[in-house]
Amino acid sequence: MKETVLTINAGSSSLKAALYARDGLNMLATAVVERIGSESVFVAKMGDGSKIQTPENPLTNHLSAIHAVIDAFSNTWPDITVMAVGHRVVHGADLFNEPIVITPSVISQLETLSALAPLHQPHNLAGIRAAMCAFPAVSQVACFDTAFHRNHPWVNDTFALPREFYDKGVRRYGFHGLSYDYVSHELARIAPSIASGRVVVAHLGNGASMCAMHNGRSIASTMGFSALDGLPMGTRCGQLDPGVLLYLIQQHGMSAGEIEDVLYRKSGLLGLSGISNDMRTLEASHEQTAKDAIEYFVFRCQREIGAMTAALGGIDALIFCGGIGENSSFIRARICERLAWIGIEIEYARNTSHQPIISSDLARTQVMLIPTNEELVIARAALEKLPSSIKA
Ligand code: ADP
Repeated sequence: MKETVLTINAGSSSLKAALYARDGLNMLATAVVERIGSESVFVAKMGDGSKIQTPENPLTNHLSAIHAVIDAFSNTWPDITVMAVGHRVVHGADLFNEPIVITPSVISQLETLSALAPLHQPHNLAGIRAAMCAFPAVSQVACFDTAFHRNHPWVNDTFALPREFYDKGVRRYGFHGLSYDYVSHELARIAPSIASGRVVVAHLGNGASMCAMHNGRSIASTMGFSALDGLPMGTRCGQLDPGVLLYLIQQHGMSAGEIEDVLYRKSGLLGLSGISNDMRTLEASHEQTAKDAIEYFVFRCQREIGAMTAALGGIDALIFCGGIGENSSFIRARICERLAWIGIEIEYARNTSHQPIISSDLARTQVMLIPTNEELVIARAALEKLPSSIKA
C-alpha cells in the first residue's frame, strides 16, 4: 500500500490538487479541474510532467471533481491510500496562527470569515466539505495564507481607526503566506546569509502581493484586511482611497454587492485595460489600454518595493515568484528599471533566460527567482498534524 498526502486548493469553479508520497514527500501527481459546473476541463499530470488519463464527463461540483481526481490518481497507482488531506484556506484572521486539524467547530469559525475573502473562502470551504465527504475517516488540515504574517509589529498590523475595531479583528492580516513560507524556507536552504537579512518577496500572479521579511519572518505585507489591498491584480483593484467607496455609495447609489463586484472582479488589469486580466494577453496586445494597465502594475510594484524596503530599513534581496514573477522577464525588467537607488540592477541575459539569480554581479542587492510551491507547504503541514497513532 502506497501511503500518500493529498493537497487541495479549491476556487470558485476550479480545484487544484497534488498528491505526495508520504515518505520523502515526493510529488507524484498534480491535477487541475477548471470550469466546474459548466464545461469542465480536467488535466492531470505525473510528477515528471507526463499526462494522466482523465475522464471527459462533465464535473458538476467540487465533490465530483475530488472523486474524479482520486479516480484518475488511483487508476495510475491502484495501491494508493490517502493518509491526510491538506487544504489551502485563504483567511484565518486572528483565529488561526498555524495549520489546524479541521473539526465542525473549525468549519463554523471559518464560515464567519467568508465576508473577508469572498473570492476564496466560501470555495475553500466547499473543497473542505467535499473532501470530508470523500474521505470521512482521514485527517483534514487547514493551512492559512494569513498565518505567516501573524507576528507583524503592531504598526504593520493596525489601521488608524478607533482602537475598538482592532480589538474586533479589523487588522492588516496579509495573504499569500503559504507561498512566502515556502520561499523563506527555500531561501534559507540555498542562501542562508541572505535569508537572515532583509528580503522583499514579490508574489506576482493573478493575485499579487509583497512581503517584507527579516530573518525569514514577515514584518510587513502589501495586503491587509482582505485580499484586495496593495498591488493591482488580475481583477482586483489593490490600494484604494476609502473615500472612493463612500463616493460610490453616496453619489452613485451603489450597493455593497455591486461595489464588491467592481473591486474583486472588474478592476485591476482587467478594469484598466478593458481587455484581459491575463498578463500574457496584455503583453501581446498593441492597444494603449493594455500598455496603460501594465504601466500602472509596474509603477505600483516599484512603489511597494520602496515601501517594503522602508519597513525593513534597507534591502539585501528582492525575490520574484508567482505566475508573472516566475515567467515574465519583461515585467521583471520593467519593475527593476527604476530601482537602482536601492542597489537593484539586473543583467539582461540572466533575466531573459530566467536564471535563479538575475542581478548583475556588482549589484548591491541580489535579485532572485524562486518558483513557489504552496502545495508542498500544505502537504508538510498535513503530515505533521497526523495523529501520533498513525504517525508512528
Ligand atoms: P494565481 O494567483 O491564480 O495562482 P498564477 O500565479 O498562476 O495566478 O499567475 C497567473 C498570472 O501569471 C496570469 O496573469 C498569467 O498571465 C501570468 N503568466 C503566466 N505565464 C506568463 C508568462 N510567460 N508571461 C507573462 N505572464 C505570465
